[in-house]
Amino acid sequence: MPNYNILITDGLDERGQSILRASATVDSRESTPADELIDIIADYEALIVRGQTRVTAAVMDAAPKLRVVGRAGVGVDNLDLEAAKQHNITVVNAPSSTTVAVAELAFGLLLAVAREIPRADTTMKQGEWLKKDFEGVELSGKTLGVIGFGRIGTEVGKRASAFGMNVITYDPNVSEHELEHGNAEPVSLQDLYAWSDFISLHLPLNVQTRDLIGPQAISQMRDGVRIVSTARGGIMDEGALLAALNSGKVAGAALDVFEQEPPGLTELVSHPRVIATPHIGAQTAEAQSRAAEDIASEVLAALQGKPLRWKVA
Ligand code: NAD
Repeated sequence: MPNYNILITDGLDERGQSILRASATVDSRESTPADELIDIIADYEALIVRGQTRVTAAVMDAAPKLRVVGRAGVGVDNLDLEAAKQHNITVVNAPSSTTVAVAELAFGLLLAVAREIPRADTTMKQGEWLKKDFEGVELSGKTLGVIGFGRIGTEVGKRASAFGMNVITYDPNVSEHELEHGNAEPVSLQDLYAWSDFISLHLPLNVQTRDLIGPQAISQMRDGVRIVSTARGGIMDEGALLAALNSGKVAGAALDVFEQEPPGLTELVSHPRVIATPHIGAQTAEAQSRAAEDIASEVLAALQGKPLRWKVA
C-alpha cells in the first residue's frame, strides 16, 4: 500500500489522526499562514482543514501532488471549489458530524435570548440583583420560523416541537415528507417573516443568501422578533440588524457567526440585546471526534480510489 503524505492545518481530533497514521505520514501544523502553506504544500497528497485555512487557487497551483482536500466539518466556503475542479482535486467534507452540536447550540441560544441568561449572569457577577429587569418570554406556544430545513434545521425543529413551539419553515429544496417528519409546516418566506416570534437560520451562505436578512426582510417581521444565527456570517446583514435592535423592531439576537471572524468588539457584539458566541456551533467533544473520524476515513477512501460518501467537488 502506498504511503501518503497528509497535511493537517487547523488541528484534528486524535481519533482522526490515528486512523490516518495507519496508512499515511501525517503532519499537523496549526495556524499556518497562507504564504507558508504555499511553500510547504508541494509534498502532500492530501490536505485536511477546518474553517480557518483558506484553500485558494494559489495553494492548489503550488500543490502538484494534491489529490484531495478534506473539510473536517460542514461549511466549504473557505475552499475554492471551482479551482479544485480545474486542478482535478477531490473535495470531501463530514456533513453530519456536527449536526447535533449546532442544533443544540441554536436551541441553547433560543432559550438564552428569550430569558437573557448571559446578561443575568453578568450582572450577578457585578454584585447586582436585577430580578425585575429580567422579565423574559416563554418559548412554549410561540412560533419558530426555521429558514433552511436541512440536517441542522430539522433537529432544531424537533427540539422546538418538544418545547411546545409551533414550527414553520421555509426551504425551497425540501419535500413535504421531510417537512412532516420534522414536525414543521412549510410556508413562504414572507409568511415566515410575518408569523414568527423567533427565527433561526440554518441555510448555507451563497450568492442567493448573502444579506438575506436585510432591511427589507426585517421590515416584514413581527415587532419584537428574536433572531438566532448559527449558520454563516454574511446571511445576516449586520448593519440592518443593529439598526433594528436600536429601533426595537428586533427584541434580541443571538449570533454564533459573523461577517468577519473574529469581529472584534463591534457595536453589534457589545449591544446589550445581542448574545455573541465565537463560532462554537461545532465545538463539542463528540462533534469534533466524529468529524475527525469521518474526514479521516473519507480522505483515505479518496486517496485509495474507493467510493465516497461525502464528495463536495
Ligand atoms: P444542509 O445542507 O443539511 O441544510 C441546509 C438547507 O438550507 C438545505 O435543506 C437547503 O435546501 C436549504 N436552503 C438553501 N438555500 C436556501 C434558501 N435560500 N432559503 C431557505 N433554505 C435554503 O446544511 P446543515 O448541515 O443543516 O447546515 C446549515 C448551516 O449551518 C450551514 O450554513 C452551515 O455552514 C452552518 N453550520 C454552522 C456551524 C457553526 O459552527 N455555527 C457548524 C456547522 C454548520
